[in-house]
Amino acid sequence: MTSNDSFRHKGLRNRLVEEIRKKGIIDHKVLEAIGRVPRHLFMDSSFIQMAYKDQAFPIGQGQTISQPYTVAVQTSLLEIQPGDQVLEIGTGSGYQAAVLYEMGAFVFSVERQKRLFQKTAKLLPEIGYREVRLFLGDGNDGLPAFAPFDKIIVTAGISDIPSNLLLQLKPGGLMVIPLGERSQTMTRIKRLNEDDFEQETFGEFAFVPMLKGIAK
Ligand code: SAH
Repeated sequence: MTSNDSFRHKGLRNRLVEEIRKKGIIDHKVLEAIGRVPRHLFMDSSFIQMAYKDQAFPIGQGQTISQPYTVAVQTSLLEIQPGDQVLEIGTGSGYQAAVLYEMGAFVFSVERQKRLFQKTAKLLPEIGYREVRLFLGDGNDGLPAFAPFDKIIVTAGISDIPSNLLLQLKPGGLMVIPLGERSQTMTRIKRLNEDDFEQETFGEFAFVPMLKGIAK
C-alpha cells in the first residue's frame, strides 16, 4: 500500500490473521481485509513493534486502537456487502474505518475528539484511504445529512442505544454496538421495518466509554 509497508510487516500481519482465525473468525473477507491494512501505520511510533499483536493500544487523548480480534468480530457481525453505506461512531486511529473500506464499504466515520480527528484526517489520505469520509461531531447525533445507512458500527461503550442511530438505519439494516457501563455486551440490532427491531448478543468486551459533545 505504501513504501512504509514492508514484507516484514506483511509477514507479521499474516501471523496476526492466523491468530484471529484460530480465535474463531471464519469470514474470509474479513480476514483478508485485516491482512491488507497496515496497522503499524495507525499507531504511535513507540508502539510499532506491538502493532501486530492481538491487543488494544493507546493512540493519544486517552483513547485506544481496538484489538484486532474485536475489529474482526464487529466487522463480521456487520455482514458488509460491497457498496454498503456504513456509519462508524468513534473514528479513533481510523483502523476500523480502513478495514471497512477494504471490505468495499462507503465509510462515514464520526469522532468527538478534535485532536484525534485532525490526526486521522491527515493520516488516512497519506496511506491511501482517501475515500473514507471523516467528521468531527458527537456520534450520539449520528450523521443525519448522510442517513439512512445500511450498517452502523459503534466502537465505544454505551449503556443505551442512541435513538438517533436507530432512526438512521435503513429497514433491513444492521447496527453493531457494545452495550454496558463497566464491560460491554456486543449487541447486534436488525431493523426489520419502520417500527420493529430485533436484538442479538455476542459476548463480553471492553471499550472506552462513548461520551457526549465535542472535545477540543
Ligand atoms: N474505531 C477506533 C477505536 C476507537 S476507540 C479505531 O479503530 O482505532 C473509541 C473512540 O470513540 C475514541 O476515539 C473516542 O474519542 C470516540 N468517541 C467516544 N464518544 C464519542 C462520541 N460521542 N462521538 C464520536 N466519537 C466518540
